[in-house]
Amino acid sequence: MDMTLEEFRLPDYPDARLNLNGQPLTVISTKSFTPESTGQLTTPIGIATVLYHWHPATLAAFLDLDAWFSLTWTVSLPPFPASPSSTGHSIEIGRVGNQITIGTLDAEGEKWSLMLTFNMAETGVWVANVKESMVGEEDITDAEEIARLGQEFVRELVEGRVWEAGKKIKHRFFVEYAPMDIFGDGIQMSPHWLYKALDLKECSTCSARESESGAKLERCGRCGTAAYCSGECQKRDWKVHKGICGMDVLERGQMLRITQKGGLIRWDESKTMVAEEGEESGNPNFAEKQFKRVREMGETEEADIDEIEEDDESAEE
Ligand SMILES: [Zn+2]
Ligand SMILES: [Zn+2]
Repeated sequence: MDMTLEEFRLPDYPDARLNLNGQPLTVISTKSFTPESTGQLTTPIGIATVLYHWHPATLAAFLDLDAWFSLTWTVSLPPFPASPSSTGHSIEIGRVGNQITIGTLDAEGEKWSLMLTFNMAETGVWVANVKESMVGEEDITDAEEIARLGQEFVRELVEGRVWEAGKKIKHRFFVEYAPMDIFGDGIQMSPHWLYKALDLKECSTCSARESESGAKLERCGRCGTAAYCSGECQKRDWKVHKGICGMDVLERGQMLRITQKGGLIRWDESKTMVAEEGEESGNPNFAEKQFKRVREMGETEEADIDEIEEDDESAEE
């Protein structure tokens, strides 16, 4: 059932293997999961599975503590058809620094009905936070109960394929640019543009490049900010692109402007790449200690950004 993401890397760290919860980074392959296999899911693997299958860069951002101070992934789900009185709800996966918060909220995304909190220890292990977890109005102060509820929560998400597009299902992703805080709760961002700029000569899904002789890419007819080599690639990206495509033109324009230097991460390198030369990263998700990214003086354009491995046919059905 497991799929170890041995080749998965954070951009700028081509040699650094990644861990999750102190173990080699693993997600569940959508090809093989069954209620039986999801029963074995741990909370960290479940969360990584959801983020990875929505878009691999979302998982990269989640693990990339040096670059993003906080991030939030939400999905709002319509009311259950079987229950006319239900009002729908939303699901949230978030990280602020090394603290992870997951749970369910009301349809407006304001009131938590379940909130589970974990802290990444220095070893990368997720430790249940017994001071900030709740079911309804009740505090949960038992670490084992938090672990059990976490497993139940991720199992439902994975079995329900909560990362998939669907009618009235809306996914959104926000990041807060480390270590500054000019946006408060962060800004809505496409995972495509976290680590690289929009390039309409490249398929937004599979990265196939437009060539003079052969392949011609088609742009999204509605917004023009995505390009695809095939209908299949367009379909696969819809779960991510839907939220961007429906945005206000000015808001999307701002998003494109601040990501044009090579993704949001290069927007203002004096703010994000503040490490001193040789300063160690405290990111517990690196299997071996790494140095923080350092700003390359004078080279702001298109520094060598390693692209995220998105070619993952095996993980799809
Ligand atoms: Zn493609
Ligand atoms: Zn579009």
